[in-house]
Amino acid sequence: MDWDLTSLLVTQLGRLKQSAFYNQKMEQAGVDLSSIRSLEEFEKIPFTTATELLQELKKRPSESSLFSNDVTRINFSPSGQDLYPVYHTESDIETMHRVCAPTLEAAGVKKGDICAVTFGYHLFVAGLFYQGQLEYYGAKVIPLGPGESERAVQLINDYQVSVLMSNPTFAMKLAQKGIPSVRILFVGGEPFTSVEGYPEKVRQAFGRDIIIIDSYSMALCMPIARSCRYGRGLHIIDDFVYAEVIDPVTGKGVPYGEKGELVLTHLKKEAAPLLRYRTGDLTSIEKKKCECGRELTLPKSIFGRTDEMLKVKGVKFWPSQINGIIRAFPELGSKYRVVVNTDRGVDFLRLMVEGNDPSGNIVDRLSKRLKSETLLAFNEIQVISKLEDGPVVIDERKGRGF
Ligand SMILES: [Zn+2]
Repeated sequence: MDWDLTSLLVTQLGRLKQSAFYNQKMEQAGVDLSSIRSLEEFEKIPFTTATELLQELKKRPSESSLFSNDVTRINFSPSGQDLYPVYHTESDIETMHRVCAPTLEAAGVKKGDICAVTFGYHLFVAGLFYQGQLEYYGAKVIPLGPGESERAVQLINDYQVSVLMSNPTFAMKLAQKGIPSVRILFVGGEPFTSVEGYPEKVRQAFGRDIIIIDSYSMALCMPIARSCRYGRGLHIIDDFVYAEVIDPVTGKGVPYGEKGELVLTHLKKEAAPLLRYRTGDLTSIEKKKCECGRELTLPKSIFGRTDEMLKVKGVKFWPSQINGIIRAFPELGSKYRVVVNTDRGVDFLRLMVEGNDPSGNIVDRLSKRLKSETLLAFNEIQVISKLEDGPVVIDERKGRGF
């Protein structure tokens, strides 16, 4: 597999030589893309940050070194109050649809299935992305678009829709009104497997054991990873994107299974491709063969953001992981405060979380769960009936909170 990967990367680096944006970056860094022939050499290429990429993308096409004449579609994605463009060439669109075909098959979609897509088709990429890949695959697709749940339910039932593409909240709303023909649900648009208990909640709303497929993508890179019907995590679409996980502080790659920041490189994209793009997303990659044939897998989408990492007791700690952990305890609310301080060089980690504790043993259970997920022993955990605000993270060692 690595042989294939290297040759795909070398070809893509040849294409990137034509890009004024990357050429300028490489000149500054003293890196010659055409000399790179191995994954080790690839790691010498400087990272691309979201700030520098978006700054260039947000320029008008006539001024942006990331725009090219062969662009045929311009989608957009929100960035704060603004939008930035997502450029595709005709070949990019074809590639995007083609690499999704095996993932649809691994999900259990059949060529004759009637599918419905409830993602938006205006401006943003999601609706057209699903529509295109399903048509390419040979399924039949109703472009429902978002909202109007009554009409959506009627069409799904009239046409016996068996595959639904939707954000999980909207899917639950439709399920509660009754859509018994749906066999497979593709979720997107909000965190799903990374939120404890969410898949079970959606299954309950359907009242039967449907196949739920989670995806992880960004507007600038669709697709990145998708789960299959065997439910073993989200497989990286490794013939489309090269995914590295790095230590966000040192920039060095971490071994399989270890958490770090996801870095992406397009293997085939022509318009505004990503090269060692730091996503800021915290995840880990596991290498294990699934029944569907894929190997590289994100265990559950992403865990949080890397820009908020703290080092506590020598262990990397991402406070937003707590969101997912406390959701597994129905007796706890969503507000919490984390305080880290230090006494004579020893870190002290305290968690206060809103909730009520009728059984009296929640602190023990929560402590065990925190230990297994964050690898940290919390020195003090308090369950408080009302917290004024949260989530709040205070690192008193630095004398600042954020
Ligand atoms: Zn699989």
